[in-house]
Amino acid sequence: MIPSLCDTCRNVREVRTPRSRFLLCELSLMTAAYPKYPPQPVVRCDGYRPRNDADEGRVIGLQADHGWGEMGKVRHKMLPLYEEPHFTFRFADDRIIPRFHLEGVGAGRRVAVYKIDPDSGERRALLATAGVGDGGWVDLQEPITVRAGEAFIAVPEEGGGGT
Ligand code: SF4
Repeated sequence: MIPSLCDTCRNVREVRTPRSRFLLCELSLMTAAYPKYPPQPVVRCDGYRPRNDADEGRVIGLQADHGWGEMGKVRHKMLPLYEEPHFTFRFADDRIIPRFHLEGVGAGRRVAVYKIDPDSGERRALLATAGVGDGGWVDLQEPITVRAGEAFIAVPEEGGGGT
């Protein structure tokens, strides 16, 4: 059997039913560029990131299918002029987020990441700043730990890169 990159990728989550086992690509929850259940085996993938020790302690729970919607779902919201456009990430499970994708944000742009009140959307704390890389991917210097039910927003700074 040909080995699949998904088996050793930090972005995979195993979903088991009484009769089947599926490999869910969590990048699919952040960008449509990745299928939710990639056909196996995957032998080449730009999103592949090998697991490391930091991932071993992460808590993986069941995905909620109500309330928060899909884990890690991204909502791109263009706001009125007096507010900044931003991306909202909400999580149904505890997660460690080493990177995320911002659709349509050009490489080189700076992004500020804020924890928000999941109900009001009010900003609580600056979690990180980072630069947008190729294809809109933001690799964080330190992964963000997010608990079930929490949310954060990524706010691209004005200027630099495309939108
Ligand atoms: S990013 Fe690629 S290798 Fe990793 S789980 Fe998704 S499809 Fe598999």
